Amino acid sequence: MNINEKLASLKYNKDNESHLSVDNDICMRCKNRCCTYICPANVYEWNEEKCTMTIRYENCLECGACKIACEKNNILWKYPNVEYGVKFKNG
Ligand code: SF4
Ligand code: SF4
Repeated sequence: MNINEKLASLKYNKDNESHLSVDNDICMRCKNRCCTYICPANVYEWNEEKCTMTIRYENCLECGACKIACEKNNILWKYPNVEYGVKFKNG
């Protein structure tokens, strides 16, 4: 099973509000935008034309890598509300 098949096999319970947020103005000045390639679930996408960050929080695996990697400490990260987020095991 490859990584994409594994990701597709996970279950998610989507909350209506994001547990991840960024200050877009800070992202505009960020050179590397490492969040857009370090995240294993491709949660962050930078739109060059609109200069905005899209955050697909519903796909988050809650690994915490983006929070550690962001060179501007610009990711407000918390766990999803109880009952929401990724489920790694059935039940
Ligand atoms: S690494 Fe941090 S500051 Fe840079 S684009 Fe990503 S969230 Fe924004
Ligand atoms: S916590 Fe992990 S999966 Fe979630 S957005 Fe950050 S890097 Fe991606």
